[in-house]
Amino acid sequence: MKPTHIEHLGIAVKSLDEAIPVWEKMLGTKCYSIEEVTEQKVKTAFFKIGQTKIELLEATAEDSPIAKFIENKGTGVHHVALAVEDLQGSLNEAAELGIQLIDKTPRKGAEGLNIGFLHPKSTGGVLTELCSE
Ligand code: ZN
Repeated sequence: MKPTHIEHLGIAVKSLDEAIPVWEKMLGTKCYSIEEVTEQKVKTAFFKIGQTKIELLEATAEDSPIAKFIENKGTGVHHVALAVEDLQGSLNEAAELGIQLIDKTPRKGAEGLNIGFLHPKSTGGVLTELCSE
């Protein structure tokens, strides 16, 4: 798969309105984008730190994956996103390595990126997102 860098860290929060000012203070930088991804029932807020980003995720529905995550594990780090050059090739490679895929083919994520998730059962409990432009 050969990821080039950590594209972003996804963090589950209960409320963007509450979390954004906290992270703005902590990072010393303003949130530069708020975007709703209706397909995933989340609203996201992004911060840039060098070439890495922090993605805050708020559920927009009770059956949102983020709502379920917070119910089970509480708020906090939700996923790690690795940038890859060839997303479909990387998903195929992961499958060949015996890693269980959530997405066999890329789908659209926030920030206009193409994304695909690897199942945390195969990655030591870390939900891992592969993404490419
Ligand atoms: Zn993400």
